[in-house]
Amino acid sequence: MNDIGVRDALPAGFVAAARTIAGAAGVIDDPAGMAPFAEDRRKRYPGRAALVLRPASTAEVSGLVALCAGAGVAIVPQGGNTGLVGGSTPDESGREAVLSLARMNRVIAVDPIDNTIAVEAGVILAEAQDAALAADRLFPLSLAAEGSCTIGGNLSTNAGGTQVLRYGNARDLVLGLEVVLADGRVLDLMRALRKDNTGYDLKQVFLGSEGTLGIITRAVLKLVPRPRETVTAWIGLDGPTAAVALLADLQGATGGQVTTFEYIPRSCLEQLLRLIEGHRDPLREPWPAYALLEATSGRSQGLRGTVEAALGEAMEKGLVRDATIAESEAQAGALWRIREELPEGEKRAGAAVKHDVSVPVSRIPDFFEGAEGAVARAFPGARVSAFGHIGDGNIHFNVLPPHAPDTDRFLARWDEVNRVVEDVAIGLGGSFSAEHGIGRMRQASFERYKKPLEIELMRRLKTAFDPHGILNPGRVVARP
Ligand SMILES: Cc1cc2nc3c(=O)[nH]c(=O)nc-3n(C[C@H](O)[C@H](O)[C@H](O)COP(=O)(O)OP(=O)(O)OC[C@H]3O[C@@H](n4cnc5c(N)ncnc54)[C@H](O)[C@@H]3O)c2cc1C
Repeated sequence: MNDIGVRDALPAGFVAAARTIAGAAGVIDDPAGMAPFAEDRRKRYPGRAALVLRPASTAEVSGLVALCAGAGVAIVPQGGNTGLVGGSTPDESGREAVLSLARMNRVIAVDPIDNTIAVEAGVILAEAQDAALAADRLFPLSLAAEGSCTIGGNLSTNAGGTQVLRYGNARDLVLGLEVVLADGRVLDLMRALRKDNTGYDLKQVFLGSEGTLGIITRAVLKLVPRPRETVTAWIGLDGPTAAVALLADLQGATGGQVTTFEYIPRSCLEQLLRLIEGHRDPLREPWPAYALLEATSGRSQGLRGTVEAALGEAMEKGLVRDATIAESEAQAGALWRIREELPEGEKRAGAAVKHDVSVPVSRIPDFFEGAEGAVARAFPGARVSAFGHIGDGNIHFNVLPPHAPDTDRFLARWDEVNRVVEDVAIGLGGSFSAEHGIGRMRQASFERYKKPLEIELMRRLKTAFDPHGILNPGRVVARP
């Protein structure tokens, strides 16, 4: 089918040419079929696709990108469409084509000697993790969307998640990359080398570039030994100051074996217990805040004793109020589900103005105090729900309206709220976007906080890699 909208937006013969390259399964042009590809996760950016392209190989991506470049058709790359900043869906013009990598979903090889996994960009993160485990290895990128986000999306957003503390961001896990450039040429950097100082490390340019500089089609990723012992604990605390001090103590006691350290205030837990069935309070008494701790070791025993002793000492110092260590995988799973379902609890509690800020870990207590105070002064009655990857200094600081009838009026002040919260993070040497990226949602903050020279250099990169501005235009950095 080829409706009026599609004919308007695309040059004559474009759809047929796309089908010649990618076959019938590689092109969707009926409005109902295209609609899911045009809806962003937060439903903040209503969009309409000119066409959805679903190539099954690098050669097909290359052919389709060359076709789009020749016709001046803008391309929005898309993986699992779990991104939270409006970067993976088309705008309202009906002129942008979505290029979905979902059909490029092959795990190419796992090499337990090189400790690598080679994948196509559309492989779901959980499937890459499973393939690594089958070879007795760990692919350590982990986030709540792992059942639907893709490796291509993870690398394009330089995703973070719950194990950054130990293993780094997505960027740190990449050895090799294959990218289709804006003119359709294929840049083959699929190396599995740990050392390679042969000029500029070009792959780094594409990591975190949110589909604005090239389309990632394949990658070689690092694996690490599979942990033999995992200790998961839920810890009652007085607040962020205790949390930060406790993390430093636990890192010292375990020799850096803390993998996850997530912060959850009591208010977030209560909200979850109230709104989502199947959870229970892990501790007998309520405490102002909690940390979800996971530590892992390559040895099969000894870590639990170390963690228990460290928590005991921290309790004597007054850093820990109470704690429970999971006795089974099921108990650990229940603790993890609390953390993973916090965003859903928050969604059910109502709309909120979102932030994804980071500060140096040592400044987390200052951030909480400063941001909560600034919000209370600027928006009296507004409620704060702030949780997150405190071990990386990353807080998802969400501001809820004072009362339900005020919701729309409050949400209309989204940018104002962002500014109040992000000013505090920036003032502490932090970032306004720790792990979700810029997309369309953080454009105003990007212009506000990035230094003019940084923006100038990014624009030059954009012009060098995408001179005609066809790759995800208007996301991240606008061309001059
Ligand atoms: C419940 C939930 C929890 C989340 N938790 C985290 C978290 O802890 N940490 C975190 O970092 N993020 C988190 N996210 C955000 C999101 O999951 C990540 O940004 C993820 O990396 C996006 O992957 P994706 O495949 O869904 O990409 P998409 O959403 O499809 O795309 C994201 C961006 O990458 C571009 N892109 C996608 N594929 C390619 C490609 N092959 N080549 C070039 N560009 C491409 C898109 O154009 C877009 O700009 C969460 C999201 C949800 C819904």
